[in-house]
Amino acid sequence: MKKIILIFFVCLFIASIYGCSLNLEKSSNNLTMYSAILNFDEDKHTIGGKLEVDYFNKSNTELGSIFFNLYPNAFRETSNQDVISLAKYSECYYNGESFGSIEIKNVYNSNNLDFEISGVDENILIVNLNGNVLPQEYTNFVIDFEVNIPNISHRFGYGENTVNLGNILPIACVFESGKWIEIEYQSNGDPFFSEVANYDIEICYPQDYILASTGTETSNFLNNGKKTSFLKAKVVRDFMIVLSKNFVKKSQQLDNILVNYYYYNDENAEKSLQTCVLAMQTYCDLFGDYPYSEIKIVQANFCIGGMEFPNLVLVGDEVIDYKTYEYIIVHELAHQWWYGVVGNNQTKYAWLDEGLAEFSSAMFYKKNQGYDFSYDFLVKQANTSFEIYQTIFGNVLGSVDTSMDRSLAEFKTESEYINMIYVKGFLLFDSLCELLGEKTVINCLKEYYKDNAFKTTTPAELIGCFEKTARCTLENFFDSWIKGKIVQVFD
Ligand SMILES: [Zn+2]
Repeated sequence: MKKIILIFFVCLFIASIYGCSLNLEKSSNNLTMYSAILNFDEDKHTIGGKLEVDYFNKSNTELGSIFFNLYPNAFRETSNQDVISLAKYSECYYNGESFGSIEIKNVYNSNNLDFEISGVDENILIVNLNGNVLPQEYTNFVIDFEVNIPNISHRFGYGENTVNLGNILPIACVFESGKWIEIEYQSNGDPFFSEVANYDIEICYPQDYILASTGTETSNFLNNGKKTSFLKAKVVRDFMIVLSKNFVKKSQQLDNILVNYYYYNDENAEKSLQTCVLAMQTYCDLFGDYPYSEIKIVQANFCIGGMEFPNLVLVGDEVIDYKTYEYIIVHELAHQWWYGVVGNNQTKYAWLDEGLAEFSSAMFYKKNQGYDFSYDFLVKQANTSFEIYQTIFGNVLGSVDTSMDRSLAEFKTESEYINMIYVKGFLLFDSLCELLGEKTVINCLKEYYKDNAFKTTTPAELIGCFEKTARCTLENFFDSWIKGKIVQVFD
């Protein structure tokens, strides 16, 4: 009997160890591996690249070709798509218009492989394999490419202080329900959707630059005025690199997480670092452990506030109001949970990650006093914003479409996108707290995080998880918010 009890408690102990933390090593098996050798030419503003792709077919379909997103091509002179809204145009292109692109030079393994540039706007690379890759098997090839970096304060572009290498690698499109999901770039929102993969990156750059990236720098060496860094990341959705000659770095250890803040213009740098640490701590406590060993918060030439990448967030240096700067840190770090670990198609269900990031940010201010924002203030501000939007646009247009489940391309203005995705997304979760109680909502999100870690989800999965955890039917509640059939009126 004693022995049985002992075994029971040992099992319980083991279950509690594995139950409360996400296992990165185990999750890194059977994933696509990207191994790249990159060379940054400072004078030409180019990245020469050789990317070895070890693609894992996790679908049930034999695949004869693999599709990749070519995001830098949205920045071409002849692109059909604006990369920035008109309102931000001159701020982002502060030196006048500048263009970027990616050129695919060759694709090969033991033989040259056929490839084509496709998609609605040269945004897709299709690699035709010699024979099919079977389900649960790997196929391997190399893509030689060159990226031209535009002079623009954007995720992808160089500015006065930073070189932002966002989305430069050709990474595989998501294969879902028997077809490849081709992402078309939009100036609204975050036009990205990708699955977790492993990355091994070697990058050479002038040695007077300081590098911040996804994952961890495992080693580096200097040679002839250049530095080569070896970077590794497991189970991440993308790989971001930022280079700057002006970075100052401040770090603090938070349990198993090294929090690194890179900046060049922040007179409150120590306070900013403390906010980063506190935000990471708060989200770990609320939703579950952050499974990676590092997080980087990077000040950058970026004209649209902030941006999330795996293990790294950008905070735009044009934000002069410090409380907004802090808010951006808090919001972008929440994306490490909602986007980073739990992914979703950001072009189709943007409210899912943005609504949760906004709600999480508000929870940060609820849990941490002494900041310029409070939870109640943020709810009030959101209600006011939504009400004004409805009134003004209702008067101008006659009616307002308040549905949230639209693709990025279906939002006519930035204001419509922000109000339906961020503002209404936040109010949806606040309203759920009114209905179920905050404790239940947080428990539901803990479950949602644990069940969907390293996967991609849909609103149906979020709703299912809430219904299961809260033990009630919520379909009508979510429908009324998401479909926008009931126009919300706020006091
Ligand atoms: Zn966001």
